[in-house]
Amino acid sequence: MTPSHTSAVAASKVAPHSILSNALANFDRIAQPLASEVPVEVLEKIRQPRERIELTLSPQMDDRRVRVFRAFVVRHNDALGPSKGGIRMTPGVTLDDVTGLAMEMTWKCALIGVPFGGGKSGIVADSEKLSGENKEKLIRNFARNAHRHIGPLLYVPAPDMGTNEADMGYIKDAISHGLGHSTTQGCYVTGKPVILGGIPGRREATGRGVAIAVQEACKALGRTLAGARVILQGFGNVGAIAAEELAQMGAKILGASDLHGAVFHEQGLDVAALQKHASEAGSVKGFPGGQPVDGRTMIEQPCDILVPAAAANQITAANAPKIQAKIVAEGANSPTTPEADEILAARNVFVIPDILCNAGGVFVSYLEYTQETQQEQMTQEEVRHRLGARMIDRFAQVYSLSRARHMPMRDAAMYLAVKTVCQAIVARGYLP
Ligand code: NAD
Repeated sequence: MTPSHTSAVAASKVAPHSILSNALANFDRIAQPLASEVPVEVLEKIRQPRERIELTLSPQMDDRRVRVFRAFVVRHNDALGPSKGGIRMTPGVTLDDVTGLAMEMTWKCALIGVPFGGGKSGIVADSEKLSGENKEKLIRNFARNAHRHIGPLLYVPAPDMGTNEADMGYIKDAISHGLGHSTTQGCYVTGKPVILGGIPGRREATGRGVAIAVQEACKALGRTLAGARVILQGFGNVGAIAAEELAQMGAKILGASDLHGAVFHEQGLDVAALQKHASEAGSVKGFPGGQPVDGRTMIEQPCDILVPAAAANQITAANAPKIQAKIVAEGANSPTTPEADEILAARNVFVIPDILCNAGGVFVSYLEYTQETQQEQMTQEEVRHRLGARMIDRFAQVYSLSRARHMPMRDAAMYLAVKTVCQAIVARGYLP
């Protein structure tokens, strides 16, 4: 699909091999077959973000000095409902990254069947280098400055890389204060502490969803998960929980890495002990129950299942030929470049695409949203049950389309998602 000359994304040059260029390549590939089924103007419209906002934050830090940070809020599309998507706090996050991630959120929400559009935020800061107090000040400053872009009918953030449950609690508190109320009416943010209206099981939802997707992939491919060898890249919220859930399902976690190091054990790591070590030491590095290895090449080691659960663009044309896993489960957003995708497909590696694999988080965010809107409470069992049922159902839909049309799983997932968004736009009468 050729972008229009006036488009926001076309106007600013898209960096090659970026999250945004990946998102556009994935979209363009599926726009071809869809062009005969949906109006081309609709496809052109959804290739663009609806809104890209740049903010300057200037919190006063604990030493009383003011520091300046850049932040972004992007709403890609809201045909299905308010834009939904996490807040990424990393030193390198860019407006284009946030745009690509917001676009992915549009497809993810449509695919997993929740009435949300896609959005995302970014704060350019190193969360690991900020003290707890300074991070809170920065997050509260973001909430104050982004307030007019956040709301239950507009954009509802959640945690992403570098932000967590506590940060979402601060956002809810800051917005309540801004409104002069003790709380908010309706859901302004998901993934917050249960005591502030969060939902039990949200923190675990993405990693658990990844494990369920892997389980379904094993069933579909006639492979057994019990005893399967797993390597994970990233041991934060998504990676550590996916490891725990997969280990509970009988898989053997051979290796795990983070920004600081990687550990490996041929016979399998003790995941509970590794989680304890990582939460105390701030990294998997130095874990006594495994050998230190090079994190960059660990993903090329022999294994059955590879779970990238960290940054984007980790599986590239350079290392895709060396990946030995039979299943790649994308816990992270955009971990595989389009070039690597082609190489993996040619090598018959089964890729569970991010918009399906890590959609458990936004599905449970939807449960949190409805719970808060209706002022109800849901139990952890209910959340787990509904998450499991939805992941299994959507995996089956994507898998059967991929078989029927001989498409890779990513294209099948994109086809279903993009078509749903197009149908919503047409139903709204957005076309002249
Ligand atoms: P997090 O900040 O909790 O953890 C990120 C982990 O990845 C950390 O262990 C970090 O050290 C590691 N990491 C970062 N860059 C790395 C690299 N180059 N190599 C190895 N390790 C690296 O973040 P998270 O919430 O677990 O998110 C991880 C991924 O999952 C991101 O791509 C995010 O967009 C995606 N995701 C998260 C959620 C969610 O609910 N948190 C939902 C959907 C998708």
